[in-house]
Amino acid sequence: MQLVKECKRCFEAKDINDYHKNKKTPDGRSYYCKTCSVRRKAAGKLVHAAAAEAMRMRSYARWISEHAEWLEEYDKVHNLKGRKGGFLPNSYFEEE
Ligand SMILES: [Zn+2]
Repeated sequence: MQLVKECKRCFEAKDINDYHKNKKTPDGRSYYCKTCSVRRKAAGKLVHAAAAEAMRMRSYARWISEHAEWLEEYDKVHNLKGRKGGFLPNSYFEEE
């Protein structure tokens, strides 16, 4: 059994116990280490809340254009393939 694996986000080799359990992956552990998955969740919640607020204020289009650069970077980091925030499905916030 593999005891150390490389995180797909920070690329650090970490102990298997540093990965959340995940039934969907071949080895039963998340692709990302716990540190990265917690960070990703927090960042996702933040952008999601900001986008929801913009939608409520009917200024979503403007919010998108104002944050275009940042969202592009965010997309890259989170591999959203241009879907951007509204974007983020609920499954995004679930454990990986
Ligand atoms: Zn990591």
